[in-house]
Amino acid sequence: MASMTSMLEVSSCDRCRRPSLIHQPYSGRHLCGEHLHKSVRKRISKALRAQINLPKGEAEARGRPFTILVAVSGGKDSALMLAGLVDLIGARRDVEIVAGIVDEGIEGYRAPSIDCAEELCGNLNIRLERISYIDLGFAEMDDVVERMDAIGSRHAEAEGLLPCSYCGVFRRRGIDALATRLEADWVAIGHNLDDVAQSVLMNLQKGDVERTVRLAPHTEQPIQGLAPRIVPLRWVPEREVHAVALHLGLPFHHGDCPHALGALRQRSRAFIAALEADVPGSRHGLVHALDRLKEMHGAILESGNRGTREAPGRCSICSEVTSRIVCQACTMKSWLEEE
Ligand code: SF4
Repeated sequence: MASMTSMLEVSSCDRCRRPSLIHQPYSGRHLCGEHLHKSVRKRISKALRAQINLPKGEAEARGRPFTILVAVSGGKDSALMLAGLVDLIGARRDVEIVAGIVDEGIEGYRAPSIDCAEELCGNLNIRLERISYIDLGFAEMDDVVERMDAIGSRHAEAEGLLPCSYCGVFRRRGIDALATRLEADWVAIGHNLDDVAQSVLMNLQKGDVERTVRLAPHTEQPIQGLAPRIVPLRWVPEREVHAVALHLGLPFHHGDCPHALGALRQRSRAFIAALEADVPGSRHGLVHALDRLKEMHGAILESGNRGTREAPGRCSICSEVTSRIVCQACTMKSWLEEE
């Protein structure tokens, strides 16, 4: 039986003698806070180089800097993403980084997270732009949740929808509105490795390959009319994001959204975590599979001489990009305006 001393023994970092902060089962490495941060920084830098191109002199020639809208939420992921981008490219005079936050109207959750985002942006000297669901003409999420059952009983399409189904559509619209306001060249989204693996799984389990290949980054196949999304944290597991955000002392909100329960993403999260525990490296495998699918899809488009994905169309009400006659945001808005 292991002695109490050996049970309490902390492994040391593989790179130095400091105590290890994290064990990466997928690589077999133990890393202290500083070396984990270095490793994460390297992964963010590599992802950034693969996803955006910032040729020297080009911003000057077009008369304005490259603008990156960093979508922040007050949480750990976007906090680390913003700090990482500022660290890596924030000093460049031809790059402007602006943070943007969408206020969904969720009592007890959004206000403290906005405070954290404000503090972070203040520390990093980054401008924070805001927009709310009310500014966008939608209802606040707390109100949506109260009316969801009634809407579901009136519209077959709305039956069984969860709060996140509405919120995801409205939030995307909010980020697009901020990107238009700033004339952003790119929108950085704080999805980590777990998030991306979960999205791949959720789309593929529905057989939705089209939606899968549309997952960010959109560098290779931009969608006309939308600032391309980039995902600098896509190779960083959630646990490592959390550990580095704590190590760097970044301000972030720890609370969970009260409307998150029951969402398909929560079940996928548990499933991916179990899969990773069973077969370390599964999340990386799913994201590599996504990239392979994107490559094959890109090759098919190119062979048909369609290097850039065509805009699916415009909403007949708001003119935003959509594959429907009336986009999902306008459809949901009309449901909320009834009665
Ligand atoms: Fe919106 Fe769902 Fe996220 Fe809550 S958990 S903020 S409802 S998307």
